[in-house]
Amino acid sequence: MKAKKVGALLLAAAMAVCTVPVHGMAAEEGTKTPKYIFLFIGDGMSYPQVQTTNYYLNAIADDGDEILNSESKLNMMKFPVAGSAQTYDSTSFCPDSASTATSISTGHKTYSGTINMDEKMETSYETIAEKLKKQLGYKVGILSSVNLNHATPAAFYAHQASRNSYYEIGEELIESDFDYFAGGGLKKTTGADGDKTDLYQLAEEAGYKVIKTQAEAESLTAEDGKAIVIDETLADSDAMSYDMDREEGEWGVSDYVEKGIEVLDNETGFFMMVEGGKIDWACHANDAAATITDTVAMDDAVGKAVEFYKEHPDETLILVTGDHETGGLTIGFAGTDYDTFLTNISNQKISYAKFDSDYVAAYKENKTDFDTVMADITELFGLQAPDGATESSNQADSKDVHPEGTDDKGSLVMTDYEYQKLQAAYEETMSRTGEEEEFGQEEYLLYGSYEPLTVTITHILNNKSGINFSSYAHTGLPVEVFAMGAGQDEFVGYYDNTDIYNKMAALTGVE
Ligand SMILES: [Zn+2]
Repeated sequence: MKAKKVGALLLAAAMAVCTVPVHGMAAEEGTKTPKYIFLFIGDGMSYPQVQTTNYYLNAIADDGDEILNSESKLNMMKFPVAGSAQTYDSTSFCPDSASTATSISTGHKTYSGTINMDEKMETSYETIAEKLKKQLGYKVGILSSVNLNHATPAAFYAHQASRNSYYEIGEELIESDFDYFAGGGLKKTTGADGDKTDLYQLAEEAGYKVIKTQAEAESLTAEDGKAIVIDETLADSDAMSYDMDREEGEWGVSDYVEKGIEVLDNETGFFMMVEGGKIDWACHANDAAATITDTVAMDDAVGKAVEFYKEHPDETLILVTGDHETGGLTIGFAGTDYDTFLTNISNQKISYAKFDSDYVAAYKENKTDFDTVMADITELFGLQAPDGATESSNQADSKDVHPEGTDDKGSLVMTDYEYQKLQAAYEETMSRTGEEEEFGQEEYLLYGSYEPLTVTITHILNNKSGINFSSYAHTGLPVEVFAMGAGQDEFVGYYDNTDIYNKMAALTGVE
């Protein structure tokens, strides 16, 4: 064990000297070329998302008692090797998914919003997936819980100045000739103006089997040839459902990975990229419960890759990383000092997105009164009104019936301060028309561009759990790189996200 550790340190030191491994350089002697490569990218999943999820799983493990231990509940945390990658891009220390996925898939930095093109928008870069297919004959699978022509999956097959060129990205998806696409629906299938030939039709003409039901997905086999599998139950923005909203029996990310392994497995090799895209969306919206449950969902998919690894340990490489952090999530909140009450999060039964679509839309339509809304909030999020509170308690002379004493810190009964914030957010939600184009500074800091009522509910529940978000956007934290299998030791160290590509290329010998 000790010798191995020293070896890894020496390797890291050697790599620091030559910084970037030469493309095509043979891998370390004794390291087999990984024939089966899994690359999991948790969008917006950095250390805070991984660690919060792990502590949460430990906290709920024993009948609601907060268990303070370091047991690794996640598959990815049990990997033998971990490294860290810096994520800045050519625009910012707080990058976006297009540029960061470009770095991971091609080894180049570029501007936020750009997919696999240089900063002048002249040169396009070939991706690791394209190279493995072209040079080594690997089959390729691209999976995402969000739209298949969204930035992260696109960065493995498309080359566009703007990530918003969804139709053109869709055309490149079809041209890629990759073997298996699975996840959320394509965006802008008939172009930005709705006047182009439908992308699914073009895909079928190009020989893809296009599948839109779970029954068909279940019966898909390798003999069916290349396939595009769209999840049957699409939710917000035509992405897959948040895992916490998934119905019993409805396929999640791990089911698509399991099917992917089945159809991609072959003697030559395969490369599979899996994006947990809604971890990012949940963090943008400051929804800790949806963040945790979608992180668990992606980790379950990692578990499928680990099962495959156990059958092919010398030839399989599994990488789990993030593209950037989202939300400035942290464990610890000013209002609870050093305490956390992570089990409180388990009271949330529905994602912010489903609460918006299934409840808030109706509240606005029906002008639902606050007390009725409050009953739903208690049922779906566990938050309770202060004792004896009525809507009039936001008047200046109301008595503080629930003082913020230390005894109450973990309680789900709101303080008057929290309750008044919730009432103000309710008023703001009810008064908005949806036509607002700009928000004032205070409004933005309170609600971002989200539904005021919903984001205030998750803020209060997060804070009562002892966790907090500091942003509605991406941040500059590094990301974890967990590695297991053939070539795993290459991923030790603190490096740049472009080196994730460089290391994969060096291990496989592609140029
Ligand atoms: Zn994002």
